[in-house]
Amino acid sequence: MSLSLPFDTTYARLPDRFFARVSANPVSAPRLIKLNAGLAAELGLDPEWLASPDGVDMLAGRRMPEGVEPIAQAYAGHQFGQFVPQLGDGRAMLIGEVVDRDGVRRDIQLKGSGPTPFSRRGDGRAALGPVLREYILSESMHALGIPTTRALAAVTTGETVVRETFLPGAVFTRVASSHVRVGTFQYFAARKDAEAIRVLADYMIERHYPEVAGAAEPYRSFLTQVVDRQADLIARWLLIGFIHGVMNTDNMSIAGETIDYGPCAFMDAFDPATVFSSIDQFGRYAYGRQPSIGLWNLTRLAETLLPLFSDDEPAAIATAQEVLGAFGPRFEATFHRGLRRKAGLSTEEEGDIELVRGLLDLMTANQADFTLVFRHLADAALGPDHDEAVRSRFIDPTAYDKWAVEWRQRLARDPQDPEARRDAMRAANPAFIPRNHRVEAVIRAAVDRDDFQPFEELVQVLSKPYQDQPDHAAYMDPPALEERVLRTFCGT
Ligand code: AMP
Ligand code: MG
Repeated sequence: MSLSLPFDTTYARLPDRFFARVSANPVSAPRLIKLNAGLAAELGLDPEWLASPDGVDMLAGRRMPEGVEPIAQAYAGHQFGQFVPQLGDGRAMLIGEVVDRDGVRRDIQLKGSGPTPFSRRGDGRAALGPVLREYILSESMHALGIPTTRALAAVTTGETVVRETFLPGAVFTRVASSHVRVGTFQYFAARKDAEAIRVLADYMIERHYPEVAGAAEPYRSFLTQVVDRQADLIARWLLIGFIHGVMNTDNMSIAGETIDYGPCAFMDAFDPATVFSSIDQFGRYAYGRQPSIGLWNLTRLAETLLPLFSDDEPAAIATAQEVLGAFGPRFEATFHRGLRRKAGLSTEEEGDIELVRGLLDLMTANQADFTLVFRHLADAALGPDHDEAVRSRFIDPTAYDKWAVEWRQRLARDPQDPEARRDAMRAANPAFIPRNHRVEAVIRAAVDRDDFQPFEELVQVLSKPYQDQPDHAAYMDPPALEERVLRTFCGT
């Protein structure tokens, strides 16, 4: 077939040591599960062709159209604090880059498409469950307004993959602004390849941060931009209760998008110590530790850039420290602005953050649902006779009542009228998040019964997280005791 895809893969024109060329892998019976036609159109790809047998063969990594030359990218990474000098795309291939209709270059990558030179002992495959989880979570994050990689397609392969049990194999098609990670820089730093670090930094500046190219100290400005984007990103994760689960340096994107959805999950009851990932035994990546881990990862990035800052090591270190010092204030500014919005405060007063933190502490003590408390708080902004929905989320509702007295004293000094305040709060506090028990139920239906209807419905509901959807109100509910899912798995 000779249909020309608008692929133009700049990464494949970087030096050979940045990637390995890979080829298609035979799979027996590819079947399209889901195609994101809207995203395809955004990318200038024909959804009809993607859904055709040739398109599905490509999405399954089975057979590439003429001219498509996939690559697997090289990277390293700190995994739970341990440095691994060679990871790389062990089960993924970049099939091409496109320039989307907004003029933004985006990567299209298959995940689960078979072994590569970076597979180590892995089989290069993905199971259906984690593919559906990544589809649901990444599209939900997008609808919530959080920078993220996107889901273009999910296919099953007809193969069986062996994990703890036998599972249907699947391939996920992911779209990212780019797939360069902190670990990509570490890969070259570990090899003392200063030239490659410069090439990579220049490439990323041109692709994502062109405005810093002309700065007096471009590499310093580059790090500043990456630090800012990560600080903002992690603040926004916290504001919606997202826990990434595996914030290894190879899972942190230089472009500032949420990437590599593994055992990630959204918190139900608010507790900063919440951990879901089965592999995170010591809570390194707990909800409340994400900002400090973010800074730890960025410090690893800064270390790789030292030679670009200055030939004089102490001067280079001083530069890195200054830039990294901006992470905390930047995170805090974004986080605090978000907390104010969540609580309906359009102006700033001293004591605001303590006020909101007071509510968060009560939520922890009362096992109150993070998402629902804030969603219902929007209605409570209309007045005390709208308090019941929120106060009933607390084991001891009078704890909320006492807090609400203080909150209303503060609201009385805030200029917004109650209706406008409620609307602003609803735009900051989603009704629908991908609750873990829902995601698990969808996966069970798909894997055990080949029933994708629940998956379709969940994706649909999550596409409008800030709207009331009375017909789907049950999707707002936290899990019943017996539905609670306390552990999530990578499934790798
Ligand atoms: P992840 O935990 O998905 O972020 O992956 C960490 C590293 O392990 C990356 O280098 C992956 O490419 C690699 N990896 C994960 N699962 C597999 C697999 N089934 N086969 C080969 N490589 C894998
Ligand atoms: Mg990864």
